[in-house]
Amino acid sequence: MAAITPPRQVKLDRECELRIEVGENSPLRLRLLNGNAEIFGTEIPPEIWLNFPPRLKFAIFTWHGATIEMDGGSDLSDYVADETPMISYVNVHAILEARRNRAKASASNNAESSQGPRVIVVGPTDSGKSTLSRMLLSWAAKQGWKPTFVDLDIGQGSITLPGCTAATPIEMPIDPVEGIPLEMPLVYFYGHTTPSANVDLYKLVVKELAQTLEKQFSGNAESRAAGMVINTMGWIEGVGYELLLHAIHAFNADVVLVLGQEKLCSMLKDVLKSKPKVDVVKLQKSGGVVSRPPKYRQKSRGYRIREYFYGLANDLSPHSNIANFNDLSVYRIGGGPQAPRSALPIGAEPAADPTRVVTVNISQDLLHLVLAVSYAKDPEEIISSNVAGFIYITDVDIQRRKITYLAPSAGELPSRVLILGTLAWLET
Ligand code: ADP
Repeated sequence: MAAITPPRQVKLDRECELRIEVGENSPLRLRLLNGNAEIFGTEIPPEIWLNFPPRLKFAIFTWHGATIEMDGGSDLSDYVADETPMISYVNVHAILEARRNRAKASASNNAESSQGPRVIVVGPTDSGKSTLSRMLLSWAAKQGWKPTFVDLDIGQGSITLPGCTAATPIEMPIDPVEGIPLEMPLVYFYGHTTPSANVDLYKLVVKELAQTLEKQFSGNAESRAAGMVINTMGWIEGVGYELLLHAIHAFNADVVLVLGQEKLCSMLKDVLKSKPKVDVVKLQKSGGVVSRPPKYRQKSRGYRIREYFYGLANDLSPHSNIANFNDLSVYRIGGGPQAPRSALPIGAEPAADPTRVVTVNISQDLLHLVLAVSYAKDPEEIISSNVAGFIYITDVDIQRRKITYLAPSAGELPSRVLILGTLAWLET
């Protein structure tokens, strides 16, 4: 445990923010003593002590001034910054707000004019994409909209587990600690934490998600007018760039917010100039964004998986279940690593189809993998079906042909069709 330090007060002037990294070993308590302040777009209530878990990195911003009282361990790190890009971010919000109002006022049978803004946030790793997405969503929810949050960042996953593309309506400003409520998101399983593992499959799960949302929007004028905010991954070079363009097209995005990269912004402006309805806007990266080395990202993927099964504060009780091999059908997508064309005889096509659904024989290889439970009724439907949830394999008994797995709840799985990728976790 870090040493105890007495609570202290921090006075923030208008348009300043208090940037905090909660220590590795001790949580933080804080409360708003006076004024108004928000955490990534969500207002904090006055007087009430709020608890923040170890390692959380965030900022408390005030538009008009505030006093904060903090009570944390000696490993807490914090400082006040008076230079932030918040004004430019809130200006973007105001423009989106005007577009939502316009969409709402327009006749709902006009598909184009009744569509609210479709914003996609792009930029390198650690440029603050998730944070900006959060702010835009929370500010919109505060005004009573229910915008749809789409997360294409398979490396982290803020709606569900890493390795998935997912979407969910945001009905209330996002809780700074709990994050996005895990209730019934629309999830497609990709199964890997980097798109390069299977680029074709990544494109497919992006497209499936976009098409399903399009259908939902066509029957729901309210969410159509509220629009969406799409968070992307930080891979912006080469194939990563192609995938960004693919996502912009798949979701028909009409506002592209580029964080902290001049070059990416000018490339996108250039390639999208044939589409006059698409605005490409460059925004400054906040100096408060903390870079997270690959090790840290890997660790936080593990925390995310743990949170899915056990809850953020160990408040969920997952169930250990046993099934016979025959009760489950396990599939993977893609026929294993593809041979490069250069390694094949002239004229030969690579044999492995990256989007082929392949039956997997249950073996020890499944141990410690996280599998998705698909809504597909048969293997042909797997790629186009969303997933109900996930299980974690804790034992494979070849002799007795039994498999032990952890599931969020007891009882039968919603389906016996399971999908496997390379998403693994070592429970600690
Ligand atoms: P990206 O999505 O581009 O990878 P994030 O938005 O996840 O980046 O930001 C990286 C980290 O920096 C996150 O832990 C986030 O909470 C933190 N962060 C972002 N903005 C600030 C800020 N203004 N002050 C303190 N921490 C911040």
